[in-house]
Amino acid sequence: MTCKEAESLVMPYIKNELTDEELFEFLEHIEHCPECREELEIYFTVDVGIRQLDSETGNYNIKGALETAIEQSRERLEAARLVKIVRYAVSTLSVMALIITVLLQCRIWLQSGLI
Ligand SMILES: [Zn+2]
Repeated sequence: MTCKEAESLVMPYIKNELTDEELFEFLEHIEHCPECREELEIYFTVDVGIRQLDSETGNYNIKGALETAIEQSRERLEAARLVKIVRYAVSTLSVMALIITVLLQCRIWLQSGLI
């Protein structure tokens, strides 16, 4: 992902509008690119600041809030990855179960002299 692409994803990220793939690439980029990370921090700070004005929650740890948001994003990706693995495992298992069922059925037919 280029810096230009990453920059265009900053607002969607804050609004939580990214797809899992976009989110993954965005986080990768943010981790290795201080400029885009700073860009994100600025927008994030403004966003949190505005919401803070709305709710008047007193002093708020903005740096910590961004860390928490990034941490949650990673957890979301991790959860999505797990769902994918489980789905794959389940579909593999059900195909195997089907094959075993057919084989067992063939054995029963063979033993009872039907084929
Ligand atoms: Zn960048």
